Amino acid sequence: MGARLAVRDKTMWLGIVTIFPDLIRASLNEGVVGRAIERGDITLETINPRDYPLNSYGSVDDRPYGGGPGMVMAAEPLAACVRSARENVKPRTLKTALLSPQGARFSQSLATELSQLDALLLVAGRYEGVDERFIKNYVDLEISIGDYVLSGGELAALVVVDVLGRYIEGTMSNPASIECESFTDDLLDCPQYTRPRVFESLEVPEVLLSGDHCAVEQWRHRQRIEKTWKRRPDLLVQRSYKETESAELRDCVSHAHPANLETIEEESLCETTK
Ligand code: SAM
Repeated sequence: MGARLAVRDKTMWLGIVTIFPDLIRASLNEGVVGRAIERGDITLETINPRDYPLNSYGSVDDRPYGGGPGMVMAAEPLAACVRSARENVKPRTLKTALLSPQGARFSQSLATELSQLDALLLVAGRYEGVDERFIKNYVDLEISIGDYVLSGGELAALVVVDVLGRYIEGTMSNPASIECESFTDDLLDCPQYTRPRVFESLEVPEVLLSGDHCAVEQWRHRQRIEKTWKRRPDLLVQRSYKETESAELRDCVSHAHPANLETIEEESLCETTK
């Protein structure tokens, strides 16, 4: 089953190990997560490896053993950052995640798991990456935000902070709005409309103007199933279905691709729940 958003009512400590703390601070001044930090619902600290340099020049990186291009972030300054964070968050337990293109793909379900932690330290790599021995001794998990290579882990860390920030009670003005978003229940979100009623000759669907809440809910649910089937059929495969949903999905599939009905029935409708 896909991610279910459980809003947490406790504050969360988030730390980011980075040699560019200003980049992080500038990005977190605005928006709902920025306000959660301002209110104190999220404590966000940056820890700079340059405060634990290898030498009097302030170096935190060195040439790779074995030769090759670029530099590697040295283990000791990063390890010192983790030790300092552990001291800061005591008695809470700290999990340390390295942002890395080689890590587990960040998803709403991984976010849901991480949102249950009291303290999470995100380590942003730079250059050619970080010394493997730091990973072995100090990192609990590696997180990738996608199959591409960024120049540093800061943007990836900000993505994680933004997603986790939405789990904190009070961050969203209406918590219900995050309970039926894309990936909740393995479905994409339904289409949204606002005024005007007609835009460039496109009308808002009649049912949304009907005032019939039950009909609106049914329409939205059907739209979520249809959209997911069209765009992300992979999400539907592991899902378990209520009987009404099975009928909706059968209907979508048989309209769009009658030939696929058998496959989707075999793969995804076998786990129908009442
Ligand atoms: N040589 C490394 C490799 O090929 O796996 C890439 C190093 S990258 C230039 C520098 C840093 O950016 C990484 O240490 C990591 O922290 C971050 N990074 C790059 N791509 C990322 C991604 N897709 N997800 C998360 N972090 C990423």
